[in-house]
Amino acid sequence: MNDRVSRETCWPPVLERRPPMLDLQGRNINKLRVSVSEACNMACSYCVTGIEDHQVAPDQLAMPDLLRLVELLHRHAGIEKIRITGGEPLLYRELIPFIEGLSQTGLEDIGLTSNGLLLAKSAPALASAGLKHINLSLDSLQPERFREMGRAGSLKSTLKGIDASLKAGLRLKINMVVMKGENDDELADMLEFGIKRGIEVRYLELMRMGPLYHNGDFKLVTMEEMLDQIAERFTITPAKADHDSTSKRFWVPGGYFGIIPNESAPFCSTCSRLRLTSNGKLVGCLSNPEETSIRHLLDEPNPEEKLKSLVLESVSYKQSSFTGSDLVMSKFGG
Ligand code: SAM
Repeated sequence: MNDRVSRETCWPPVLERRPPMLDLQGRNINKLRVSVSEACNMACSYCVTGIEDHQVAPDQLAMPDLLRLVELLHRHAGIEKIRITGGEPLLYRELIPFIEGLSQTGLEDIGLTSNGLLLAKSAPALASAGLKHINLSLDSLQPERFREMGRAGSLKSTLKGIDASLKAGLRLKINMVVMKGENDDELADMLEFGIKRGIEVRYLELMRMGPLYHNGDFKLVTMEEMLDQIAERFTITPAKADHDSTSKRFWVPGGYFGIIPNESAPFCSTCSRLRLTSNGKLVGCLSNPEETSIRHLLDEPNPEEKLKSLVLESVSYKQSSFTGSDLVMSKFGG
């Protein structure tokens, strides 16, 4: 990698706006991923064994209750940044009021992760509700391959969703999960696609999760291998990234891209994430299936202290290194 790089830089320290929630390792837990529903309209081969794996949780919380839990986590447990995920969050009927509710609590950093199939129609309403940015999952620019990897959907719909989102003023990033022999010949094409539209592409190393946890045929493409491939078309320079960013960031003439080295260089020591499932459980670590329910706090008049201690309990399940687990991503959104 050193042959390809010419310069290394660092961000200045990030300023805190609210009292932080620090765990025992001093990590500032300020990011929350909220899975609004486990339903999805795709069934990506690296995520689930089939579309039937995507079932709405029987005890899914009503929208106002889910919103209340997020509000409590924001007010009392240091959460500043929200990413709405799933399942596919655009299937969630109450998504717009949910985002409006989040905006009203004073949360300014509200993002969404989506496959974009239903984005064309909803992008303007999402932006008006207070959504700021979208991480769009897009694994291939080839229509047949798109369908094979996702087992459903159409590339055309996702591309329309991208155009509509840009038009609505939403900031976009593309997340591409890279699999050996499936889409690893498209890295430079995806980067060109992103550069043309001013969208940062982030390549995700495959994670040993759900159906891949015990699967011997693990089609990992490492960060080094990705860089080698991209370097065939682009001159790559390392760039700045936030101290707790999951991605290694690079610059090429025309724009930036990132690689999330989930397997080859996991970022566990700086992980600042917490996850909330649609049925009100906290998940502190992808490498540990322990869940911590907080839904009973909805009935408490003064839940603050109990909430803080349950958040710390959930965060204590964070592992020091990523070993994977049989947790299915669509339950808590990645
Ligand atoms: N339906 C939405 C979407 O497609 O973006 C949100 C849910 S999806 C589970 C969230 C993210 O998890 C996606 O970017 C997806 O690519 C990623 N993901 C799921 N399983 C993965 C795996 N085994 N390795 C790496 N990324 C994975």
